[in-house]
Amino acid sequence: MTTIDLPLLPLGRGTDLSAERGVECPGDLPAASDPDLVARARAAKEALGERVFVLGHHYQRDEVIQFADVTGDSFKLARDAAGRPDAEFIVFCGVHFMAESADILTGPDQQVILPDLAAGCSMADMAALTQVEAAWEAMTAAGVADSVVPVTYMNSSADIKAFCGRNGGAVCTSSNAEVALEWAFEQKPDAKVFFLPDQHLGRNTAILKMGLTLDDCVVWNPHKPNGGLTDQELRDAKMILWKGHCSVHGRFSPEVVDELRATMPGVQILVHPECQHEVVLKADLVGSTEFIIKTIEAAPAGSSWAIGTEMNLVKRLANAHPDKQIAFLDKTVCYCSTMNRIDLPHLVWALESLVAGTVVNRIQVDPDTEHWAQVALQRMLDLPGKSHKD
Ligand code: SF4
Repeated sequence: MTTIDLPLLPLGRGTDLSAERGVECPGDLPAASDPDLVARARAAKEALGERVFVLGHHYQRDEVIQFADVTGDSFKLARDAAGRPDAEFIVFCGVHFMAESADILTGPDQQVILPDLAAGCSMADMAALTQVEAAWEAMTAAGVADSVVPVTYMNSSADIKAFCGRNGGAVCTSSNAEVALEWAFEQKPDAKVFFLPDQHLGRNTAILKMGLTLDDCVVWNPHKPNGGLTDQELRDAKMILWKGHCSVHGRFSPEVVDELRATMPGVQILVHPECQHEVVLKADLVGSTEFIIKTIEAAPAGSSWAIGTEMNLVKRLANAHPDKQIAFLDKTVCYCSTMNRIDLPHLVWALESLVAGTVVNRIQVDPDTEHWAQVALQRMLDLPGKSHKD
């Protein structure tokens, strides 16, 4: 019988320990209603002092971000963690693949902790190693694997990064995807890129930055035989896009852009490249979370913006810039539900456990995976020009 990888497991069931979504919290969480949670987090952090370094992703809730020593996107945070080799404990307020990257980039004596193991990433879950290896075998059988260079977005599990490392590929971020694709296309004559796991970032970069067309791109669907593609389609493609997407950014539609332009005259639409191609085509500006933050910081007072990225970040930007009109590019709430698994009770539990001498929810990448993921990350770090800058 053929088994099918199910990327969208119900949260907290513990049915697939290898899934990004993880398992239930193994400890006694403080009640969310505990009025002393803020004081407890502060006390635990003070007790740990320089031994602990708390990282907060831009999409985290305010109640958590207030305890972050640094904030940033996933790659910046992993580098920040590597810049603090003296910190025994890295508490990563983000999602699972980010904690893995921090473990890869930090020293062997540093322990990376994810306060809630159910904080996964639905996009990363959409590309399981077994599925990716099956796709690679099919490309080999079709006679194209020799010309394929795999490139994975930072938002992928460590074993997908390691797959790219083993097969001559690299990692990229939303800031350096263009440079990474340029590099990949130079690696072999008639090179093709196998882009994982976000089809939208891959398509947007290929078309808007590399001058490719929609016809140059095919989508590999892991749930269909041969990815839903013929061998000829594989041979003709320049970009083989994995059928994955971000469940937050993927929900913005071109229609909401039209509606906002009609109701907010003069509005500028600023979106993340994980949005669908049709949305990106209608936007004024496209870029990473760091680009979005810098754009709003540099915008003149009185300017008007609608932003298509995670809502916690948009809310914080609106609060920080009351002199600018900042709207969220959707009528409905659009938090990243897995990122929001990290709440104050989980943070307090993780920090107080460390104070008591117990390391909980450690994220540890096995040595072989770490080695090959490092190879793929290093290829990204070696990219020229703007490379890995946010
Ligand atoms: S915002 Fe999207 S890509 Fe980021 S962690 Fe959430 S699901 Fe994953």
